[in-house]
Amino acid sequence: MSTDAQGQSSLRVLQRDRSTEPLKVFCGHCGRSPDNESEADSRVCTKCGLGLMLQAPADAAPGPSDPFLVVDGALTICAVSRIAERLLEVSETEAVNRHVAEFLVPADAESSSGESLASLLAWAARGETPSAQVVIRPANTFGVRYWARVGPCGPPTAALLVLADAR
Ligand SMILES: [Zn+2]
Repeated sequence: MSTDAQGQSSLRVLQRDRSTEPLKVFCGHCGRSPDNESEADSRVCTKCGLGLMLQAPADAAPGPSDPFLVVDGALTICAVSRIAERLLEVSETEAVNRHVAEFLVPADAESSSGESLASLLAWAARGETPSAQVVIRPANTFGVRYWARVGPCGPPTAALLVLADAR
């Protein structure tokens, strides 16, 4: 039930909605969620022992089988999930600290969508954007397209890019 006051700006509405939105905790490497409270308190994933635990709005967060990347406000890769490593044929060690555009680019060649992908990621990395979807492809491969779901995650605040086959 909403208790909306009249005359609030859309920005305030967004902020309030985000604060009441359910958050999902997941591992930045294997994507799995903790089974119980004590696992949820751990900073490092208790399943794979490799990833740091992150949280994201439930509708933006990956499932355990979804490939995803975490990107900071400079569009530099902070984390690559295990499944995304396989999908993009790159190890997390190789990808971290490199620009996301070295690996993923907008699927259509129009510069406007390139800007929108970069903008979406930059906004999400500031925790300012609602979840949004774009179509992208691996930078070195034509004919493969993915839906990418972009949303905020953290801590620290960063952008989450969850990939799904575009069918
Ligand atoms: Zn894990």
